[in-house]
Amino acid sequence: MSRSNVLPWVSVGSLGGTLSMQPDGERQGVTPSLDCEALLRSVPQLADLAQVRARTLCLQPSASLDIPTLLEALGWAQREVEAGARAVVLTQGTDTLEETAYLLDLLWPCAAPLVMTGAMRSARQPGADGPGNLLAAVQVALAERSRGRGVQVVLDDTIHHASQVRKTASLALAAFESPGVGPEGVVVEGTVHYYRPGRAHAPLPVPTGPMPPVALLEACLGADTDLLWALPELGYAGVVIAGFGAGHVSHAWAEALGELAAQMPVVVATRTGNGPTARSSYGFVGGEIDLQARGVHMAGALCPRKCRVLLGLLLACGNVGLLEGWLR
Ligand code: GLU
Repeated sequence: MSRSNVLPWVSVGSLGGTLSMQPDGERQGVTPSLDCEALLRSVPQLADLAQVRARTLCLQPSASLDIPTLLEALGWAQREVEAGARAVVLTQGTDTLEETAYLLDLLWPCAAPLVMTGAMRSARQPGADGPGNLLAAVQVALAERSRGRGVQVVLDDTIHHASQVRKTASLALAAFESPGVGPEGVVVEGTVHYYRPGRAHAPLPVPTGPMPPVALLEACLGADTDLLWALPELGYAGVVIAGFGAGHVSHAWAEALGELAAQMPVVVATRTGNGPTARSSYGFVGGEIDLQARGVHMAGALCPRKCRVLLGLLLACGNVGLLEGWLR
């Protein structure tokens, strides 16, 4: 039996991003152009770990990824597992990774690991981090203890859970954190170490049509309420507010959100980037006690962007009643 016959099968799908970017000779700057086969060629060490099946799903900057493309990637990944893949790795741009990973985590139905990675330096830049990140992602994907942990994000030899990871630096190599809770684990000399057990959840149904639009607005000092009042007429089905501090808004916003909450789900998260919203501390108008009395949901530890993804999926499957359960 040849060695490759005994190695586990891992499928790698690529969606573009800096990892796949290089100068194209025509315009200034780098653009996505390396397909998945080319990415894999930059990591020859993979041949000792797994039989890797490659699929270029798209070549997009992650700002232009859309829900249908992500659902196609999800379907492809699931079919690979059903066909016998031990695990699936997806590569994409890091700019929207905290949202896409959470979307896929909410829908991923398999115990097999789905691991996402990207890069902060483009493929031909000195010190490019893409190959190392891809290698670490495959190492995490192959680890037995990665099963049943949903979707994880691996960059800089650090493992984050999709529900907690955030991009917290625009250009730094160590651009990802799990604020408040810390990473799930690390990869050291190719070995995967977890700091805590994983948590599984039942997957949400995959949307069969377009996702209902959910607005995301940030509370700002002295902001008027015009955009809030316009939301129903613009066709929004829900709204997430990145609120001040522990999930607070101004007096005027509290009144507008109370009226909106009678028409659509309203979630208030914190714009701080770290820590949960309060539930029972502040009694002023626009504080969390007042907002909850007006029918507004508090986001808990879920960041505003992930709240928007969650609410969109719950609206899509007609299950907004489950929202509070997800926001603990
Ligand atoms: N820094 C981003 C990346 O890592 C820019 C491009 C993108 O998100 O696609 O890929």
